[in-house]
Amino acid sequence: MSELERKRKSGWEEVKEDEERNILKFADEYMDYLNHAKTEREIISLSEKIARENGFKSLDEYTELHPGDKVYFVNRGKSMYMAVIGSKSMEEGINIIGAHADSPRLDLKPNPLVQEGEFAYFKTHYYGGIKKYQWTAIPLAIHGVIVKENGEKITVSLGENDDEPVFTISDLLPHLAKEQEGKKLSEAINGENLAVIAGNRPDTSEDSGKSKIKKYILKLLNKKYGITEDDFMSSELEVVPAFKARTLGLDESLVAAYGQDDKVCVYTSLRAILNIENPERTAVCLFSDKEEIGSMGNTGMESHVFDTFISELLNKTRINRPNLLDKVFCNSRMLSADVDAGEDPLYASVSDHNNAGLIGYGISLNKYTGARGKSGSSDANAEYVAFIRRIFNQNSIKYQLAELGKVDVGGGGTIAFILANKGVDVIDCGVPVLSMHAPYEVTSKYDIYSAYLAYTTFFKN
Ligand code: MN
Ligand code: MN
Repeated sequence: MSELERKRKSGWEEVKEDEERNILKFADEYMDYLNHAKTEREIISLSEKIARENGFKSLDEYTELHPGDKVYFVNRGKSMYMAVIGSKSMEEGINIIGAHADSPRLDLKPNPLVQEGEFAYFKTHYYGGIKKYQWTAIPLAIHGVIVKENGEKITVSLGENDDEPVFTISDLLPHLAKEQEGKKLSEAINGENLAVIAGNRPDTSEDSGKSKIKKYILKLLNKKYGITEDDFMSSELEVVPAFKARTLGLDESLVAAYGQDDKVCVYTSLRAILNIENPERTAVCLFSDKEEIGSMGNTGMESHVFDTFISELLNKTRINRPNLLDKVFCNSRMLSADVDAGEDPLYASVSDHNNAGLIGYGISLNKYTGARGKSGSSDANAEYVAFIRRIFNQNSIKYQLAELGKVDVGGGGTIAFILANKGVDVIDCGVPVLSMHAPYEVTSKYDIYSAYLAYTTFFKN
């Protein structure tokens, strides 16, 4: 039974000693995961490795699936779906948790390398919603792949280790920035100026022509990776902050890291499904791609590849028949595992305190997101919200119901509506974050652990 009046309290006020040990240990493991994977490709490949170590096998390794079997499918190295087959028929519905592995960043342009003055630059096109000024004058790393015309794939990671160079984007010194500082924040940095410094040293060979600095970089790239300038055309190289995930604060209660939107939900839901043995309802965990740019493309949630995965589960459990997939979705439940905007006291005016996710107060549920009158939001049904409340309360999960900012101040979107459109009951449920989409995002270790417990509970009910 709830008390008459809703009382809000920091999770830390109620934590017992052994629970605190678990919270801190879990956060250490989370930070270690982040420090081994920064891009969607790296997250998927590391998560696949972890899944295999924990008894999951890829879909094509099974000819038949039986209750208790653990199976996964990797879609083009950028999204991944996992399942533990339940004892009940999937026809009665499945439990899905969906997070996204992509994060805002700067992508190298198809022809990125230029020389301007005495510098060689990699030109970029930003990916997702960023505040451009945050990406200048910080250490950056380059991660990704270059695929040569013959199909050979070269994996690149530069700027993470102490013995590797880092990269950066220059910004104007304050002494000469009078005009820039008078501009609107959104216009102070031009998108075309998000150019990463690649080098400053001219090639000294006789035939190097005009662009000697660019030429020198090309020679180095050829030596290191065996590539020519044309090979950039078939590459996916992502510029990300070179920071490591670290414990934040004297009280060590927080995590600071790049890409916690939405890798914090990827990690916590991954850890949750690893715990699931012989569930009643089939447990499905998915890590999608392209969420930050609208979930399009064949690795984004809007693609039908996820439906194909579920169809294959129906095939291999030998229950499939025409239109069964639609019925499965209509009977299914989902937590759209995506981060929430935590209330920031320095910018309190954008939040309605009573309806804001507070850092350290447990996992945030967003019944709806959207902007300008909930537009674009799937808005979870009250019956479903009651079900989630019930299972969280029964399992002592600390949660809060929040919305993303004050009315008409802004809004957001997640993958929730995509599954809701198929008939699934969906609610957004994730960790509140400060400085979302910034190069360094902040979360609470308490909330991270709450997410892990919440997702585990969801799979078991
Ligand atoms: Mn997100
Ligand atoms: Mn986001």
